[in-house]
Amino acid sequence: MNQDTRQPISASRNRLLAILLQRCPVCLEGKPFDGLLHMHKTCPRCGIQFERETGFFLNAMFFAYALGFVVLAPSALYLYLTGASTALFTGVMAAEILLLWPLVFRYSRILWMHVDQMLDPRRIPGSAPEPDA
Ligand SMILES: [Zn+2]
Repeated sequence: MNQDTRQPISASRNRLLAILLQRCPVCLEGKPFDGLLHMHKTCPRCGIQFERETGFFLNAMFFAYALGFVVLAPSALYLYLTGASTALFTGVMAAEILLLWPLVFRYSRILWMHVDQMLDPRRIPGSAPEPDA
């Protein structure tokens, strides 16, 4: 039996939109962050606990490294190719890191929560179980 496990396109589109809008990985609607860097412990919409276990967000570091590279690489390459001085290069990179860190921090956690949800799905508490579960 060859079972098709791919998600429908609309489900993938909804998840991508939820990632871009920084929404809950389970209900795709609740806002995990209630401040620039502060998160709710549970989703205000569906009630799932964002930090599944102690140290859950350590894996978000891998996404932070990747996002940091993607964010810094273009300007680093530009500065290198235009022959910028070491002081200018360092100053621009430091300023960029400081200004964009909140964005990298938030998206790294959001990405990790969504990847984790796709790898080990959780349902909204109180929702009906899967038919074949
Ligand atoms: Zn939710």
